[in-house]
Amino acid sequence: MSGMIDPFGRAISYLRVSVTDRCDFRCLYCMSEDMTFLPKSDILSLEELDRVCSAFVRQGVRKLRMTGGEPLVRRNIMSLFRGLSRHLESGALDELTLTTNGSQLHRFAQELADLGMRRINVSLDTLNPDKFAAITRWGKLDKVMAGLEAAKAAGLKVKINAVALKGVNDDEFDRMIAWCGEEGFDLTFIEVMPMGDIGGEDRVGQYLPLSVLRENLRENWTLEDIDYKTGGPASYVRIAETGGRVGFITPMTHNFCESCNRVRLTCTGTLYMCLGQEDAADLRAPLRESDGDDLLEAAMREAIARKPKGHDFIIDRDHTRPAVSRHMSVTGG
Ligand code: SAM
Ligand code: SF4
Repeated sequence: MSGMIDPFGRAISYLRVSVTDRCDFRCLYCMSEDMTFLPKSDILSLEELDRVCSAFVRQGVRKLRMTGGEPLVRRNIMSLFRGLSRHLESGALDELTLTTNGSQLHRFAQELADLGMRRINVSLDTLNPDKFAAITRWGKLDKVMAGLEAAKAAGLKVKINAVALKGVNDDEFDRMIAWCGEEGFDLTFIEVMPMGDIGGEDRVGQYLPLSVLRENLRENWTLEDIDYKTGGPASYVRIAETGGRVGFITPMTHNFCESCNRVRLTCTGTLYMCLGQEDAADLRAPLRESDGDDLLEAAMREAIARKPKGHDFIIDRDHTRPAVSRHMSVTGG
């Protein structure tokens, strides 16, 4: 099999998998406080997730990112990761990685490293415990800090993902850059995206264009352009003073669709070919219809053939409703 190429000539080599829609936090920009979660019967079992991921690896995916919801709150999730690590050993997969809120990381960091994970992304928008509790509604910063310590001790490379929120954490960016420099973490800033109803919270008010953030950083730091790519959509600079890398993910102000190599699978087996479009393909039916993977792989190929060119998110006073109705916790960021 020569791999999956979409209609615009982009090879699909990167699959993000949301392994659960559940989470132990309720971040303001991501979820409403009273989220309703999916019934268990709709959710792919760990064995089914392994089957779909492995089919994607057979069809040319080289990088798997596990996300959610919070992946580390799913029961027995390590058995899925352990199973998938066989593709690292065989050389079929270059990277198996994780995006986590860090709350359970202190329990799992060593095991993640042992099964072959090298880098993880940890989402952290503030270093202030009170602000952290306010942003996540339920989270405890000291637990995440313990998780980060454990990750470091296990030799995992860490990238911190921070959503830039106007009037919330915009006074902390310098401190976060300095802290990540000291800890040896990369740092990526993300713009708020209009995804899913968040129960009365104001995304227009939250939205801070990273072009503005980037200019502000120049007051205190020397930003050196570097040619560094992780397979994701961020563009990176090096901070001369710390030696650390800082990335910017700008879906709102910059179109990163041309080089998109990704598709996203939800925990119910729905494949989204674009983060910012509603079109999706159901892989659960073909998966459950037979024990073999022929139907599944045919459905995957048919879906890739429909991958759209890109998205056009807009946040302004005329566009206050979510651009796509599903939450980021469904497609997993
Ligand atoms: N629970 C894990 C975590 O927080 O890292 C993984 C899933 S979470 C949905 C993945 C990423 O999406 C996080 O970095 C989070 O900050 C980001 N995110 C969630 N909702 C977002 C939104 N509306 N706009 C931009 N980023 C968002
Ligand atoms: Fe949970 Fe991650 Fe969404 Fe926060 S961003 S509510 S940690 S899924």
